[in-house]
Amino acid sequence: MAQAEIAVNRGLGLSELAPRMVQSEIRAMSVESDLVGGVNLAQGVCDTEVPPVVAEAAIAAIREGHNIYTRLDGIPRLRRAISDKVERTLGLVADPEREVLVTSGATGAFHAVAMALLNPGDEVLLFEPFYGYHVGTLKSLRVSPVIVPLEGRDWRLDLAQVRAAITPRTRAVVVNTPSNPAGKVFTRAELEGLAGIAHEFDLFVFTDEIYEHFLYGDAVHVSPATIEGMRERTIVMSGFSKTFSVTGWRIGYIIADAKWIGAIGYFHDLLYVCAPSPFQHGVAAGLEQLGHGFYAKLALEHEEKRAMLVDALRAAGMTPHVPDGAYYILADARGLPGATAAQKARALLAKTGVAAVAGSAFFRAGKGEDLLRFCFAKKDEDLREACRRLTK
Ligand code: PLP
Repeated sequence: MAQAEIAVNRGLGLSELAPRMVQSEIRAMSVESDLVGGVNLAQGVCDTEVPPVVAEAAIAAIREGHNIYTRLDGIPRLRRAISDKVERTLGLVADPEREVLVTSGATGAFHAVAMALLNPGDEVLLFEPFYGYHVGTLKSLRVSPVIVPLEGRDWRLDLAQVRAAITPRTRAVVVNTPSNPAGKVFTRAELEGLAGIAHEFDLFVFTDEIYEHFLYGDAVHVSPATIEGMRERTIVMSGFSKTFSVTGWRIGYIIADAKWIGAIGYFHDLLYVCAPSPFQHGVAAGLEQLGHGFYAKLALEHEEKRAMLVDALRAAGMTPHVPDGAYYILADARGLPGATAAQKARALLAKTGVAAVAGSAFFRAGKGEDLLRFCFAKKDEDLREACRRLTK
């Protein structure tokens, strides 16, 4: 074929996947909220105060010259601090030299894990309602998300449905606990049931535990890696975006068996080189200096915010699913005008100036159309204003 002909046939264009990757509904609502000066309960930006010790240590790190690439797995001080913390809070023992990888957020962690451990055409189970980035990341790597619904108003795990979803191509299950958007906290019994299935079918379990400290009532966070026999096949992912209110810093981590960490680290290096250096120092100082009291207070403060928003949603005629963890509320909004959740979200924004996300963003097509998701990780004055508007 002549060179000119090849050029004509090839043409300029997007990848096959690109037209199917759309702006997330969460970001879209944030933009619309800003346009009308609304109170944004759509995005989990978490604009509460950064703990001063964390902020000061990051500023000091910049001044002290910690502005260059770090080792690809993160600075030793932070890996050690993470290892100490997961042992203290989860009972998870991890060698900071071989089993801890500092990442560019839990988002970067998930991407690198999927690149290192999955092949195109593999299937991965996710629970519905799901976090859209998990689905999007898998699709971007030509991995097929297979959705298993959680059941009832308390989002129960049905192990029979998990089994039914498994095929010879299934390689992993994603467990997000506490979950976004449902605030579901998987119980030890549920995780033991899942562990049995993971063993039986030889599956990885990828966990996203970014909301581990946001727990209400008597909810207890159990890391799936601590279930007996699960350490080798569990890839634990978490981060500091939510706990330290630093979503823009991009610091997360992975705990996994050393035989997986090397390849995951290699892909993370390709994507990000390293997590931002001065912020690694800031987060390390926070981990070293903030103890149980800090995390307990964080949960308590958010429990109060949850109560405030639950009351306002009820007053506005919606029926909230009261979450056990994380900091979102899915509310039944079938009384609002609009045929779809996206229309209901826009009607609510137009009428009250409060932005929420269409529930459909967290479900397969045709589901979640009566639901809206509201985030309550907001400064008290902003949340109070949103609640005042909703109640009115
Ligand atoms: N995982 C879940 C379940 C989330 O809800 C979010 C943010 O909303 C993230 C991960 C993002 O975490 P990071 O900022 O560490 O990338």
